Amino acid sequence: MLSISHFQILLIVLITISSCKKPDDGDDIVPPETPDLTHLPFGGVAPTNILIRNQGNPDPDFLSLWLCGLPSNGAGANNAGDWTNPDGTWDYTQKPQVEGNVTWNHEFNIALDGNGNRIITGNALPNHPTGVFPIQQGTAAHQYDGNPNVISEHVVYYSLPEMPEIASSPSCVGFGPAGISLTGCAIYHGASTLGTDASAHEMLDRFGGHTDGTERYHYHFPAQDLQDHIHLHEHGHSELMGYMIDGFGIYGPHGENGEILTSADLDECHGHTHMIRWDGEMIEMYHYHWTYDFPYTIGCYRGTPQ
Ligand SMILES: [Zn+2]
Ligand SMILES: [Zn+2]
Repeated sequence: MLSISHFQILLIVLITISSCKKPDDGDDIVPPETPDLTHLPFGGVAPTNILIRNQGNPDPDFLSLWLCGLPSNGAGANNAGDWTNPDGTWDYTQKPQVEGNVTWNHEFNIALDGNGNRIITGNALPNHPTGVFPIQQGTAAHQYDGNPNVISEHVVYYSLPEMPEIASSPSCVGFGPAGISLTGCAIYHGASTLGTDASAHEMLDRFGGHTDGTERYHYHFPAQDLQDHIHLHEHGHSELMGYMIDGFGIYGPHGENGEILTSADLDECHGHTHMIRWDGEMIEMYHYHWTYDFPYTIGCYRGTPQ
């Protein structure tokens, strides 16, 4: 009798121990989720998700880019048929890239001025190699995109609020730099000047960037090489990738538990608020995320663009 009751106690203890052990108790590091880049949704002009303020779309919307306007003389690549899936999504892994490894004489600096401003200066050239621009005849990318523009130096000067605040109303996004990456180059919104999804249609290099008629190297897509070059993600929330021109940060595609965020997880400006690392401290703050789906970088400015 005595030995049976001891056995029963042992059994109860063992069951109790095993039921307390949960797989997500904290110490176990879950390997980062990998994105499926083979089925990405296309962004497109309203009534889908490129909303144009001066063409009758007075407000931003969830999953959308709220453009201020669209130029009448738009140009660029517009044939994505060879990497479009039968279900209407597009396959990043089947889309050609602009090849090459051109290196640049990069200058870039970020400093706080002690008066509440973050001063960003540089020459707009990246601290990583780029593809060869203009896109070279005879390359796979040139079949789809004859982008004739070079990459040239530009004066970068931003004075952004060190602690940006949410504005009383959001602002639409114009063409040109919407933000500045920690690599020293511009972050653009997700649309081409034709009003199409730039990442899905235009030929980018392996860092998700290319150049345009202003000869400015800039990013659309959060390519793995760009993410890894800025900061190798191990687990948890992504690190900072740059600053949008309202002063709020833009982080990589991983959320607080390391999960891959999509635009559906974010608000109409493509951001959200929770505890993040900001100038070395953990604070609760609004921030944008750079995701693999349209509008990729920003939907509207939550703060006040400079
Ligand atoms: Zn572009
Ligand atoms: Zn976040």
